[in-house]
Amino acid sequence: MTHLIRLAELMSRELFQNDAYMRACDAVVVESNPNEKWFSVDQTVFYPLGGGQPGDTGVAFYKNDAEFAIVDTRRARDTGEILHFVDEVAELPEAGTELHMEINWERRYLHMRVHSCLHLLSATVPGKITGAQVYAGRGRVDFDVRYPQEKHYIAESLNALIQKEARRISRVFTRAEIEASPSLMKNLSVPLPEGVDEIKLVHFENLDIQPCGGTHVANTMEIGEVKVDKIESKGKRNRRVSISLVDTAVEPNY
Ligand SMILES: [Zn+2]
Repeated sequence: MTHLIRLAELMSRELFQNDAYMRACDAVVVESNPNEKWFSVDQTVFYPLGGGQPGDTGVAFYKNDAEFAIVDTRRARDTGEILHFVDEVAELPEAGTELHMEINWERRYLHMRVHSCLHLLSATVPGKITGAQVYAGRGRVDFDVRYPQEKHYIAESLNALIQKEARRISRVFTRAEIEASPSLMKNLSVPLPEGVDEIKLVHFENLDIQPCGGTHVANTMEIGEVKVDKIESKGKRNRRVSISLVDTAVEPNY
């Protein structure tokens, strides 16, 4: 959950950064790589794999309505570009091609609900986060803690936080701005990485604040009721807490 956005200007091209509820957009192909089966575009609603959240899947339409599937989205390690992957048989669109692109919204919304829930889970369990993974409808966080609370206690606390109807606030802060604010510094659950001047912080009102580039629901109520499925020991000081959504068929009231 600590994927970092270094430049605010990226946000104008990565439309999910400002509006996680955008399901589709028009785009123009910038680069196409037939060997690696990916293409990049001038702007996108597709979230790339990162911070424990899977990359989006979806569909792209040509102007003539012909369509092809996007099977994964990842960020290039070297350039930071978002790469949209097609399957083996699909033909790649050439640079300059105009497309209409739509994410698999059902899957993404489940990711948003689970991802947001993991923020609240990290506010519930004391202990440093050492890993997190989001799936469609379930997820888990690894904590550096020897004795976590009981399962039913975590579930109760988590559901109580969800019911607080806390709004999500996310925006890019500068390092100076954060360091000048004692309340921001105090509430940061993850330390500011060195060498980063700008960072996107995600804040569920009074509950949790941390650097995060993932996609989140607008209000904790959208997460709905959750269960704590298990707490496993993964090493001497590592406890893995797995949660799942009780109702996976909820549409956003947004
Ligand atoms: Zn997040």
